[in-house]
Amino acid sequence: MMLQMTPTGRLSHRCSFAPSARRPQVCQRGFRVVSQAAAVGAPTAPAIEHPIKKAKVPLELEEGELPLNTFSPKKPFTGKIKSVERIVGPKATGETCHIVIETNGDIPFHEGQSYGVVPPGQKTNSKGKKMNHGARLYSIASTRYGDEFNGKTASLCVRRATFWDPEKNAEDPAKKGLCSNFLCDAKPGDEISMTGPTGKVLLLPSDPNAVHIMVATGTGIAPYRAYLRRLFVEDVPDFKFTGLAWLFMGVANSDATLYDDEFQEILKSYPKQFRLDYALSREQTNKSGGKMYIQDKVEEYADEVFDLLESGAHIYFCGLKGMMPGIQDMLSRVCKSKKIDEEGFFGKLKENHQWHVEVY
Ligand code: FAD
Repeated sequence: MMLQMTPTGRLSHRCSFAPSARRPQVCQRGFRVVSQAAAVGAPTAPAIEHPIKKAKVPLELEEGELPLNTFSPKKPFTGKIKSVERIVGPKATGETCHIVIETNGDIPFHEGQSYGVVPPGQKTNSKGKKMNHGARLYSIASTRYGDEFNGKTASLCVRRATFWDPEKNAEDPAKKGLCSNFLCDAKPGDEISMTGPTGKVLLLPSDPNAVHIMVATGTGIAPYRAYLRRLFVEDVPDFKFTGLAWLFMGVANSDATLYDDEFQEILKSYPKQFRLDYALSREQTNKSGGKMYIQDKVEEYADEVFDLLESGAHIYFCGLKGMMPGIQDMLSRVCKSKKIDEEGFFGKLKENHQWHVEVY
């Protein structure tokens, strides 16, 4: 198989999870699969090493300073919704949408940054005064070039926040999350009030030989999707990635995995440079027979992960705040078993800017 970028970027359908069962001819968000035999005119042509044909991008976006807080709640940017797509299967716990916003490139950002979104409408404060809602932050799920590789759009990965009323044993629509529901219900052409970009913690280091260990729960995948597109899908001459990217992704079940179709294509093309491990808490069990949480999956590879960190790898954590205590406990346990001075080890990672945490 050989992959080509589609000229228009993304095409929408959700692939099933089982990687080996999937051989999509057309895949989402910028990948088109063509048979290698068709491409070279020989049915038995040998496999090619790097079948993703990288997308050309407007390289002027590589220049200039890191953009920070270009737009504020007082002077927001107005973007336009281009598309909203549900990207989880029917058995996922909750709904997550991939949202593409037309920006015309006028609110530039770097991979790993977030945008603020100001929900429409107003609220009344404690003194009875009407005021705008506060901006909510969303990690940007595309690279600076957007899903169409032209720098004119940016994408978000948004989970619809709902409120479960245990007494009624039902969702309470009056208490649903304001901004996430606005975004997931938005229609093409709707205006969206944006701030930012913001954030420096998850910026991708410029070393093309770096090792990136990415740990995500849920929508924490957003910045890593951007990284992986930059590392493997886009043709940036001054950033030819020669290192290793290792993604650990924790969700409830296989219907809740996000962007798996894209990751599988990268895996097929770069098996030596990309690793992908899922922790599916409601489908897999850990070594003690309990639910497989993200920290259990990372712990399975603790020897390799610690070796890589000692050799200078970057480790990133993004997603729900609740993931960190389990991760910290696991790391402490591993340090004890390896007789590593925990404080010294993690202190050094932080000092060397190898440790990146953005949880919410
Ligand atoms: P809000 O209206 O702010 O409500 C918050 C919660 O309270 C909801 O769960 C809601 O159901 C509940 N609630 C509302 N009213 C009541 C009530 N009366 N009583 C009890 N509960 C109530 N999210 C993403 O989906 N994707 C991302 O990529 C992402 N990136 C982020 C990056 C950063 C750096 C940060 C800080 C946050 C990020 N978030 C992300 C979270 C996001 O900013 C919002 O917090 C989230 O979408 C909820 O906002 P909302 O306006 O929908 O909910």
